[in-house]
Amino acid sequence: MPTPDPSRKREGRTVREAIAAATTRLNATSETPRLDAELLAAHLLGIGREAMLLGRLDDMIGKTEFDALAARRAAGEPMAYILGHREFWSLDLAVGPGVLVPRPDSETLIETARAHFAGKAGPESVLDLGTGSGALLLAALSEWPDARGIGIDRSDTALVWAKRNADVLGFATRATFRLGDWADGLEGPFDLVLCNPPYVETGADLPRDVRDHEPAEALFAGEDGLDEYRRIARAIGPLLSQNGIACIEIGASQADRVARLLSAQGLRTRLFRDLAGRDRCLLVHS
Ligand code: GLN
Repeated sequence: MPTPDPSRKREGRTVREAIAAATTRLNATSETPRLDAELLAAHLLGIGREAMLLGRLDDMIGKTEFDALAARRAAGEPMAYILGHREFWSLDLAVGPGVLVPRPDSETLIETARAHFAGKAGPESVLDLGTGSGALLLAALSEWPDARGIGIDRSDTALVWAKRNADVLGFATRATFRLGDWADGLEGPFDLVLCNPPYVETGADLPRDVRDHEPAEALFAGEDGLDEYRRIARAIGPLLSQNGIACIEIGASQADRVARLLSAQGLRTRLFRDLAGRDRCLLVHS
């Protein structure tokens, strides 16, 4: 038997080889296996994806460490949890298990509020009901530098992420966070109320990474997905300042039903769509 040449013994593989192997492995789990593999490799190298693709594909990468990351993704864990962050409204938010991963669809709420306040005095007081990672509140504070805001969540874990994001992104003096059940015990009024409540029907067939890894309490809202809207609809009116508005996220098929719950409370609504053209946001005012 030939003696192995120690100089040829490899500690790992090249980045290129690791990405190719992980792409094959992730095919069954992910709709974007190659992108995921590239992002995992760049994460491990501690550099950006572009920089890696441009000049580091022939570097060596630790097999054990890389395989551990690929295994998490292969088990369906969301990329945002593995990488530890997700961008929302150009803010780099830290996220992890226990908090909903911010979705680009939810940026529709900020777009809607921005269009509403264009040419007017911006909101001075912002309330984010079900703040999660703090995404909507911090996006609003980044948009209106004179605004202050409160983020409410039922989950302690979510609030840890939200506070951390406010600190790291420089909003700590303008943002407070509180454990709470929607608006219970809150005193308004607020110029802008943002809310992305749970609205998924209990039996809905969600993608595996969402269903198995993201917090159920941030997603599901009863048989018809409307349980939380029934409570929120009653709370919104008293929270709004004279010219205040609320921007409430809805599921793509829920616009009419949620608008009816709000109009039963004497509130008026206008519907806005997301970039994919799906119903996504109700702008609410009195
Ligand atoms: N839009 C999310 C999803 O598709 C649901 C978020 C929510 O219920 N607020 O999983």
